[in-house]
Amino acid sequence: MAPKVHVKKGDIVKVVAGDNNGKTGKVLEVIPDKGRVVVEGVNIIKKHARPSQKNPQGGIIDRPGPIAAANVMVVCPNCDEAVRTGNVRRSDGSAARTCKRCGKAID
Ligand SMILES: [Zn+2]
Repeated sequence: MAPKVHVKKGDIVKVVAGDNNGKTGKVLEVIPDKGRVVVEGVNIIKKHARPSQKNPQGGIIDRPGPIAAANVMVVCPNCDEAVRTGNVRRSDGSAARTCKRCGKAID
């Protein structure tokens, strides 16, 4: 079974380890099979693009590359800091994540 990724698309996360330590950005993509995430503005890689309708010149485009999900932590909107999250179940049965620091729901 693939490791469960604790962040979701749209989360604001902080990188807490590795080459991009300290950077903050929004999660653009989660790749659960590989345990990786793509975070806006983090791990920018240059990608060679063929000319296309969208980009008729082709050439090199900058885009964020995937990093290990284990290296990021969710930023709690209430604490404004990278925090550990816990899982709780709402009264309607849906899952929610909470900040282990302030106890408030993050989702
Ligand atoms: Zn919090």
